[in-house]
Amino acid sequence: MSMLVPKSASPADDFAAYRELENDELAARISAARQTLGRRLLILGHHYQQDEVIAHSDLRGDSLQLSQRAAESRDCEAIVFCGVHFMAETADILANRPQRLSQRGGLRVPVVLPDMAAGCSMADMAEIEQVESCWEELGEVIDTGDLTPVTYINSAASLKAFCGRHGGIVCTSSNAEAVLRWAFERTGRVLFFPDQHLGRNTARRMGVALDAMPVWNPYEDLGGQPEAVLEQSRVILWQGHCSVHQMFRPEHIDRLRAQHPGIKILVHPECMMEVVDEADLVDSTGYILRQIEAAPPGTEWAVGTELHLVNRLKEEHPEQAIHFLSPVVCMCATMYRIDLAHLCWSLEHLVAGEPVNVIQVDEETARWSLVALERMLEVK
Ligand code: SF4
Repeated sequence: MSMLVPKSASPADDFAAYRELENDELAARISAARQTLGRRLLILGHHYQQDEVIAHSDLRGDSLQLSQRAAESRDCEAIVFCGVHFMAETADILANRPQRLSQRGGLRVPVVLPDMAAGCSMADMAEIEQVESCWEELGEVIDTGDLTPVTYINSAASLKAFCGRHGGIVCTSSNAEAVLRWAFERTGRVLFFPDQHLGRNTARRMGVALDAMPVWNPYEDLGGQPEAVLEQSRVILWQGHCSVHQMFRPEHIDRLRAQHPGIKILVHPECMMEVVDEADLVDSTGYILRQIEAAPPGTEWAVGTELHLVNRLKEEHPEQAIHFLSPVVCMCATMYRIDLAHLCWSLEHLVAGEPVNVIQVDEETARWSLVALERMLEVK
């Protein structure tokens, strides 16, 4: 591999120089690095990523799709994940699982997150120590042997590992209902984290009553719930949310319906229940994309999900009238941290054989996370 970056004391030192470059130059250097690395490199672009980064990605999708497709690639020797931290962790767990490692003679595929500050506010709302003490406290009130922990894929690997260790499972927004059904076949109760909205919206659709879904506040004793409420619960919801989808409000729907009679409201299940109740259609990102693609030309939509995805839908489907559901900007600010400068910087370090920002989940955490992920992949 050729050396495209000057050696420096630390990657942080040379990143400052990339900040000074114009986008045209960054784009040209990214293309050159991609050409040098060829099929050995996979750049993954999450649906919520900004267009100028998506333009350089080999695959576009949601976090699980991207991780799975990268893990299946035969030629790939390095992954650059233009998403957020938990996504890069999942890619590392799947791409470097024991079976794939032995096929590659023990060689790891480094997974690079171009900016380490690209985290997820929802994932950060449930820390492993909080989840562990929640489990312990719950054990004083209810039988945790009859409780399945379910974590949304938007969570740290340590939480996925917790689920793996405790007979639990991971879910995505597209399989949450099937996963909850799986959990209820095994136990009478579920502890769902970190997104209360996905948990509530899904369980309610399955017929679980709202008063059987108390919210666990990790900053209060016993989650801020009376023992009797926990004893009667079916789904204990973690007090977490997505700061992007939380911004959509029922009044946004009312306003658009008044302005555009006949408009269809399509929202993601990370939105609050009051929004979901008023929407016409509610489901995952993949479902949102399929609905728009399949609709007859001239259909009018208001879409309640991340701004970059909705703007891209507008561009790619000029035959539809697509509106963003909220009058205010709802974008994933942490994902937006991945820009051309970070992408160029991380790629040129890969070309130089000096990868930066490599996300590597420790062996024990990866092992148990994989157990919970594989349980999910078997759920139909
Ligand atoms: S959109 Fe929400 S859940 Fe998704 S990465 Fe951003 S903060 Fe996290």
